[in-house]
Amino acid sequence: MKRQFTGQAATDFSLMIHGGAGAIRDPQRYGPSLRAIVESGARLLAAGSSALDAVVHCVALLEDDPLFNAGRGAVLNAEGDVLCDASVMDGRTLKAGAAAAVRAVRNPARLAYEVMENSGHVLLVGEGAERFARERQLRFESEDYFKTQERVAQLAKAKRERAIALDHSGVADGKLGTVGAVARDRNGDLAAATSTGGVVNQLCGRVGDSPIIGAGTFADNASCAVSCTGVGEDFIRTSLARAAAFFIEFRAMPAEEAAREAIRYLVAKVNGQGGLIIVDREGRYGQAHSTPGMLTAAFVGGVARVGVT
Ligand code: ASP
Repeated sequence: MKRQFTGQAATDFSLMIHGGAGAIRDPQRYGPSLRAIVESGARLLAAGSSALDAVVHCVALLEDDPLFNAGRGAVLNAEGDVLCDASVMDGRTLKAGAAAAVRAVRNPARLAYEVMENSGHVLLVGEGAERFARERQLRFESEDYFKTQERVAQLAKAKRERAIALDHSGVADGKLGTVGAVARDRNGDLAAATSTGGVVNQLCGRVGDSPIIGAGTFADNASCAVSCTGVGEDFIRTSLARAAAFFIEFRAMPAEEAAREAIRYLVAKVNGQGGLIIVDREGRYGQAHSTPGMLTAAFVGGVARVGVT
């Protein structure tokens, strides 16, 4: 398994996904899913799909996979419930959509897309977001679909240790993470999407960075597409996704340097924990994290590469 990759995609499109940051035990476990999902997204982009469609497609597949902390298999909050957050941004138009604290919606990333395209708003939360999802005829699932045994055990452990934790952390025996995708399509348009169940044992009603445009997700054709993972409060307080895009737009950094600089900034300002992935306007990849590890995969030189640190 490759450790990391940065630089150019060597195709006329770029696609990178992540499966969260933290202390990742047993990283091999996530490789096959990450590889299959990046390959699936790359097939769409190769066939001419937009970056926007590709990132929503990849994040929805990650949500359906119980290994990751999003959609099915998302972490449980302090009341034992799964409440999900997601967002999407179109770098071509700067349109954005997001949903927070939603229950039972199978693919929160698809709801974020519907909010962007059909609500006239950027962010819908809770019951209103769920009603809107019904109106848009999105798929709903039962509580059992979302709650895996692993997550129930993880919450019990967190409660014993009185911890509120990132999925990939000491309290998380399953070690799964928030998910995201960034892409540049054959037209040169950029898009980003992020989805999460939040952090283990979070207060009911807590919302992290993942549905906050500029914190957990950002895309602008003038700079880059960014998706973040980590302690959401740290990313909100530093507007980290937007900060990374500023480094590219106004300091002319390539994606790799901007990713490293953004994490330096996160640590310097708030001692923040987490990571981010970037595809820049030239199609170059960047990734960096302040946590011990991060799960990523990208389409490089015509093949999917999984990166685990
Ligand atoms: N950023 C997410 C949140 O704070 C958690 C994660 O990335 O694992 O909700």
